[in-house]
Amino acid sequence: MMMRIEEDRKRVLGRNLSIAYEKPLHVVRGEMQYLYDDEGRRYVDAYNNVAHVGHCHPKVVAAGHEQMKLLNTNTRYLSELIIRYAESLTRTLPDPLSVCYFVNSGSEANELALRLARAHTNARDMIVLDHAYHGNTTTLIDISPYKHDGPGGEGAPAWVHKARLPASADDAEDVIDLLARIQTKLCGFIAESMPSVAGQIVLPDGYLKRVYEAVRLAGGVCIADEVQTGYGRIGTHFWAFEKYGVVPDIVVLGKPIGNGHPIGAVITTREIADSFNNGMEFFSTFGGNNVSCAIGLAVLEVVQEEKLQSHALTVGKQLLNGLRELQQQHEIITDVRGSGLFLGVELGKDGEPATLVSNRIANRMREEGILLGTDGPFHNVIKIRPPMPFSHADADLLLTKMGQLFSEPGQTI
Ligand code: PMP
Repeated sequence: MMMRIEEDRKRVLGRNLSIAYEKPLHVVRGEMQYLYDDEGRRYVDAYNNVAHVGHCHPKVVAAGHEQMKLLNTNTRYLSELIIRYAESLTRTLPDPLSVCYFVNSGSEANELALRLARAHTNARDMIVLDHAYHGNTTTLIDISPYKHDGPGGEGAPAWVHKARLPASADDAEDVIDLLARIQTKLCGFIAESMPSVAGQIVLPDGYLKRVYEAVRLAGGVCIADEVQTGYGRIGTHFWAFEKYGVVPDIVVLGKPIGNGHPIGAVITTREIADSFNNGMEFFSTFGGNNVSCAIGLAVLEVVQEEKLQSHALTVGKQLLNGLRELQQQHEIITDVRGSGLFLGVELGKDGEPATLVSNRIANRMREEGILLGTDGPFHNVIKIRPPMPFSHADADLLLTKMGQLFSEPGQTI
């Protein structure tokens, strides 16, 4: 069965779709933080951040189902649902972030964020962080070094300026140097509040503050890509940018906000929204449809009702402590970092990234029934970003299994 699906994929789908694990997984059912394969085996999902409030959460499923039975149309008709959803979202954000746009993916949201920034500044040049990923469209590949500097990529276009991933607040100087070198007008700066494909990075305290100040002084706008980090995932704050004491001009949302239903959103200030309102209509056929709004609203309600942010903080602390203990015992673990349920375990040996070992551990953990992934420029960072209901018992299991694997002879060679 699995072989047939693999072969069929190659036949009918583009071949640059990747597949997780050496032994691919055929999952047929999901329930909260668990996935089940075609033989009924349960896997603890420690990887899929999209199913934020849990795979197939009953309240979200019911909201979608009820709304699908009733009506699903677009933003050209009056709807109270979209207002309620937009108001619920903006209530979670600081002033002056008060105007919402709804689209269908993180990529669409980042595209729209760039259009807003360009309309507001009449400029194009962007500063981005090295190794960043912001989406799959032509323009977003241009601002995603992870893609344009990788296989098949053609490098950055002239309007994109790459700043190094910061190791300390002083690395803000790198952005300031870039600003001094950019000959044309600046459009803005975009960064994930905790860079994920770059390897689950926590930005140094003070870095974003200095960068935002400098970018604004140069006439640019600051965009926070919260596609992976928002909605309480980091535990200490609802939005990851809040951790650094900054307020972006544009916030980009995706993945978790629809819990698997395709929803993206952009939230900005009235001033920027007014600049974008330049006579050209903005319309997305599916963006902000009734079903998406009902689902989006339900997801946000579940996050709040089930206090998932504080849950992420306590389970995240347990994981961080446990992983740091493992780090004491196993030299190959060179760093453990993150916040809440957004964590990374970096592996290295003799000063080199331990890419093969990371890959082997992720594959062995899958065999043990726990789903993880790897990322970072050298794919040597084990990524932990589970659905938020991930429990203390799940964390215990993950730590025990991981500890056993790191102790197995030959495993870390
Ligand atoms: N921004 C970030 C930070 C992402 O991680 C992703 C998806 N991995 C995107 C944007 C693009 O989102 P989508 O795949 O929904 O288009």
